[in-house]
Amino acid sequence: MENFKFKKQYGQNFLTDTNLLNAIVKDAEVDKTTSVLEIGVGFGSLTKALCGSAKNVVCYEIDTTLKDKILQNLINFSNYELNFADILKVSDQEISSKFNNSFKVVSNLPYYITTPIIFKFLEGDFNISSLTLMVQKEVAERICSAENSKDYGILSVIIQSIANPKITRSVSRKLFMPEPNVDSAVVHIQIDKNKLNIANFSEFQNFVKRSFSMRRKTLINNLKSNYNLQTLENAFNKLGLSSNIRAENLSVKNFVELFNILIK
Ligand code: SAH
Repeated sequence: MENFKFKKQYGQNFLTDTNLLNAIVKDAEVDKTTSVLEIGVGFGSLTKALCGSAKNVVCYEIDTTLKDKILQNLINFSNYELNFADILKVSDQEISSKFNNSFKVVSNLPYYITTPIIFKFLEGDFNISSLTLMVQKEVAERICSAENSKDYGILSVIIQSIANPKITRSVSRKLFMPEPNVDSAVVHIQIDKNKLNIANFSEFQNFVKRSFSMRRKTLINNLKSNYNLQTLENAFNKLGLSSNIRAENLSVKNFVELFNILIK
């Protein structure tokens, strides 16, 4: 890594610890039948671990100056395809066209675009079974927390409405090069789009955002500019919910049930 100038604006914090890299591959449940999409190759250390375990790896990296290092690092492998592009600008069709069957996303994510990347893959029409992502520890906690917790919010409800996330390991900042000023965690998000029956997922997302717009207010207060008060009270009654309930106390299942009633 001697003479490489790390680009902070691309969230470049690389991993070198072989045990950790293999552990991430294990968390992702990758084997010789698995096709992987990797976002952000860096020098290719995670890519290398993935190539050793997976059927094939399709990867995207934004920084073309990394090309020589990556090719050098992956010299013993041929089961990968390296693409240079901003993953957020690659169309869903193009990504899907790289895979014949379902695939898994594995990434030590560039933290500045964690949420847009997660949403791209949750919303898009992809044949993905899971996302295994290195994210900032606080973000991992928000993704996985349950109702009645201070970390429970928009990210928790939207992700848990179509997937089952769990934190598989905490990762010290010391294991990154250069060392970032936050700790990290690996989160494994198992997609299950039909787990709850959401009438309209994109509208549901707006509904959840609106519900949490003022955390200290009651849910009814947050929703009353969009729905008639009586309609709201009837829906709350039907689900046996108190009219004083706040968004942070409502389970994911209740969120979906409430949304499905109100959208009618
Ligand atoms: N996987 C490597 C690098 C992780 S750092 C490792 O674990 O060591 C994140 C990587 O994502 C960096 O190489 C950065 O250049 C790349 N990156 C940042 N923004 C990106 C984007 N929009 N699309 C694709 N890659 C991106």
